[in-house]
Amino acid sequence: MVDEHNLLGWSEFEAGATLFSFEGDRADNIFHENNSVKHSVADWRVLKPIFNAAGCIHCQFCWISCPDTSIVSTDRKFERIDYDHCKGCGLCSDVCPTNPKSLIMFPNQVQPEDAIKAWPAKAEKKKEQ
Ligand code: SF4
Ligand code: SF4
Repeated sequence: MVDEHNLLGWSEFEAGATLFSFEGDRADNIFHENNSVKHSVADWRVLKPIFNAAGCIHCQFCWISCPDTSIVSTDRKFERIDYDHCKGCGLCSDVCPTNPKSLIMFPNQVQPEDAIKAWPAKAEKKKEQ
């Protein structure tokens, strides 16, 4: 169990310090106590992506584009969003190709069930003149 009170804050590390992800050999898969995997680092998020499974084609564009590895996929299927690490950058929503998008950014306090009720309808393609 990590003692949160004994961890260094970001401003206490020397400039250029390296934070190792794992204790010892990576193969042991034991995360270092400073690794963010055990801590929520999403405090500054203002918007959050909400997922609507209705139109998802499991293309994995969101998974490969997320800079925080916060899209969790299993067997190449969208599984969930890791809200402990998602920073709300919106890239996943930007790259989602479905119509309507299957990931849309909402204010952080919006509940998924309310977002699903407010989901936009399929947009009509504009006819070329
Ligand atoms: S980008 Fe959109 S359609 Fe593709 S897997 Fe992600 S949510 Fe689903
Ligand atoms: S909003 Fe940004 S950080 Fe969050 S899941 Fe989407 S791409 Fe990742």
